[in-house]
Amino acid sequence: MTKRAYNFNAGPSAMPLEVLQQVQTEFLDFQGTGMSIVEISHRSESYDRMHNETIALLRELMGIPSGYEVMFIQGGGSMQFLMSAANFFTKKRAGYIDTGIWAHKAMEAASGYGEVYAVASSADRHHSYIPQIYEIKSDTSYVHITANNTIYGTEFKIFPKFAVPLLCDMSSDILSRSVNVADFDLIYGGVQKNIGPAGVIVAIVKKELLATARQDLPIMLQYKTFAAHNSLYNTPPVFCIYMVNKVLHWIKNQGGVVAMEKRNIEKAKLLYDAIDESNGFYQGHAEPAYRSNMNITFHLKMAELEKQFLDEAKENNFVGLKGHRLVGGCRASAYNAVPVEACEALARFMRAFKAKH
Ligand code: PMP
Repeated sequence: MTKRAYNFNAGPSAMPLEVLQQVQTEFLDFQGTGMSIVEISHRSESYDRMHNETIALLRELMGIPSGYEVMFIQGGGSMQFLMSAANFFTKKRAGYIDTGIWAHKAMEAASGYGEVYAVASSADRHHSYIPQIYEIKSDTSYVHITANNTIYGTEFKIFPKFAVPLLCDMSSDILSRSVNVADFDLIYGGVQKNIGPAGVIVAIVKKELLATARQDLPIMLQYKTFAAHNSLYNTPPVFCIYMVNKVLHWIKNQGGVVAMEKRNIEKAKLLYDAIDESNGFYQGHAEPAYRSNMNITFHLKMAELEKQFLDEAKENNFVGLKGHRLVGGCRASAYNAVPVEACEALARFMRAFKAKH
């Protein structure tokens, strides 16, 4: 048996063990071709079949309506900050809900295209909540939101609706919960947290919005290029898409996104309960109403114990628990592939550590 860590990394992060084993088994011979998936042409029939199946699986699992294009694009979520603005910043302004650093980066990337403003901000309480009151200015191209705030551990429980297109960064919660795709005009998300290894993002764009995209852009910055060529305008990251394919099959076999969501809520609850039942020994960063089911952020009331907590966690096979430097403290990222047992073990460890101190 391979020794596996309790992997709470924030991304790249845990992959389903079954998927890793399957990939290992198939690595030398992809579907009887006598070649590895990384050795075959992206124009070959066997690649094409897998590529299209991956898109079909995404459509099926997320319930993506036919009026939407699904694309694979490289450059990460960070490139999407730029690309979404480059394509859809067609009026004087663009509004962003400022829920922390990823929203800031998206705003910064868009700032070259016109006036960028915050529709609302959670900066006053160190991004520990999701603001609920929004102010949309005239001549606004779109509103951009970050569905799950990886660093602070907050998430939109209900998505807002506006009279202008809604663009959403789902980098840290895509396929971890059911969403109604029709409520969005653009969804993008890196796959490296919930559905694959780093190297590609999934973009889901409403055709009506796509029709309004700016044309005066370099070819590789246009969503239209990817849509028109089924994400095969140039060589896609074949291995990455192949692994996404495997993870999507795994999600489907687990019962789909609904089952993932149920399990993710249970997993997060195990950790939030350990925090809430600690009489303040552990303190959550996010306000309870906005707690993320993906990233559970907390610190120790006795800050001097934090290093010891992290050291002992490490000795006990827990990985990735140090919080992001912007928030400090600890963070457990419990994405789709993190097993329930890992969260149970961490909750037990947290209780035992508290009892000892
Ligand atoms: N958005 C969110 C919510 C993220 O968590 C991250 C990365 N952690 C990004 C965007 C940036 O993604 P990338 O590193 O793929 O550019």
